[in-house]
Amino acid sequence: MSTSIGTLLLFGASGDLAGRLLLPALGELLDAEEARRDIQLIGAGSEDWNPEAWRERVRSSFESAHVSQATVDAVLATTEYQKADVTRAEDLSRLLEAGPAAPALYFALPPAVTVMACTALKEVALPKGTTLVLEKPFGTNEESAASLNELLAELVPEAQIHRVDHFLGRATVLNLLGVRFANHLFEPLWNRDHIEQVEIVFDEQLTLENRARYYDSAGALMDMIQSHLLQILALVAMEPIARVDAVDLRDAKAAVLRACRVWNNDPVAAAKRARYTRGSIDGREVPDYTAEPGVDPGRNTETLAELTVEINNWRWAGVPFRLRSGKALRDRRKDVVVTFKPLPHLPTGLHGKIVSDRLRLSMGPDAMALEINVNGPGDPLDLEPAVLSTNLSPGRLPAYGEVLAGVLDGDPLLSVRGDTAVECWRIVDPVLQAWRENRAPMAEYAAGTAGPDTW
Ligand code: NDP
Repeated sequence: MSTSIGTLLLFGASGDLAGRLLLPALGELLDAEEARRDIQLIGAGSEDWNPEAWRERVRSSFESAHVSQATVDAVLATTEYQKADVTRAEDLSRLLEAGPAAPALYFALPPAVTVMACTALKEVALPKGTTLVLEKPFGTNEESAASLNELLAELVPEAQIHRVDHFLGRATVLNLLGVRFANHLFEPLWNRDHIEQVEIVFDEQLTLENRARYYDSAGALMDMIQSHLLQILALVAMEPIARVDAVDLRDAKAAVLRACRVWNNDPVAAAKRARYTRGSIDGREVPDYTAEPGVDPGRNTETLAELTVEINNWRWAGVPFRLRSGKALRDRRKDVVVTFKPLPHLPTGLHGKIVSDRLRLSMGPDAMALEINVNGPGDPLDLEPAVLSTNLSPGRLPAYGEVLAGVLDGDPLLSVRGDTAVECWRIVDPVLQAWRENRAPMAEYAAGTAGPDTW
């Protein structure tokens, strides 16, 4: 761990991420620690807010998370807001002069503005221990992610750069590691000899929800699979680690991602895309995706994507990893399903419906379920499936609270390392290219269904 952060400088303080997620999470984090952390919050943005308007934003964000009055008062006593154009070096210098040592600069900005702000920072004297916190999307392809890494490397060392992946909070990461590495039962079977396939699924019932400005130029593959689901794949498929720390964990994740590519190296056959049409979800009427406000049908953006990935190493060669994510679907699902190989032989005499053993790891709420075959209650020769299940730790904070704790403690365990961010783009870029060139069909599914009939 490096130095603790003394100032949280929030760029884009008037934006959606800051108000809806970051400020409430900061309040919850400080509450959970009973205000033991001495941190000054400085908001910066293009709005011309007076001190009271900013304090009101902080107060109402904290209230939305039921933060205690003591924490609200402690933060309001020192917080300030500064109007600034964060793409201008003079404004950035002024902001950094205002705060004490070791600031964390949180770029809650549109991605293109973040790049401009980082470019402007080259002309600014950064205080010792400055930490940079970048949101997703990190770049728009392999090349731009690599050049953003080069730009950041000119500013601060890699250990002081946090590329946020809020999808997996600390508890979920540790739950996955716990199941894999704290049980003799799984790790010896965790390979191509015993595992048939792995599915990593994030299905939402949510639709576009007025996020066309961002989502319509991203789509499901970029928004979810390129970032979050490949991070989960890395945790599921990486080699065992010797200790839970940022070095071992991020080395192991990077190694397995380097071994990944799309199935059979065929970006057209390895991926599918689809878009929702009019339908209803739990009684709520949903319009065609292309009729949603702000959507440009000409962009041909998918709202459901599936990608099969291969991992070219001894452990996993030949095992498909299917990654799928979509919006406006019938069911909410956020899980990893590991399907074991069929039995080599069932003793003659035993009968019944035999299923492949399956381990299901669900995220948010975290739980696990192991599906196995056992003798049924009637005829003992008759087998039937049974499920052993348990809940896993929910964690003490929401995901963004854990992200902020990592940033403020200087612990990058949960953040994405620069090389890994580039690898994730390298894996999906051939598919994005094929889709841009219209080399793959766009299927349709009615909102509120399980996806296209043909899949
Ligand atoms: P918004 O558009 O809501 O907010 C962006 C903020 O940046 C606004 O406050 C805007 O101020 C400010 N801003 C823009 N240009 C400048 C500038 N030159 N100087 C100072 N401030 C500026 O975006 P979001 O909050 O939704 O997203 C921010 C980042 O977080 C994006 O990278 C996004 O992908 C990521 N993210 C967002 C999530 C969400 O749920 N919102 C979830 C996960 C990640 P103004 O409007 O006054 O110009």
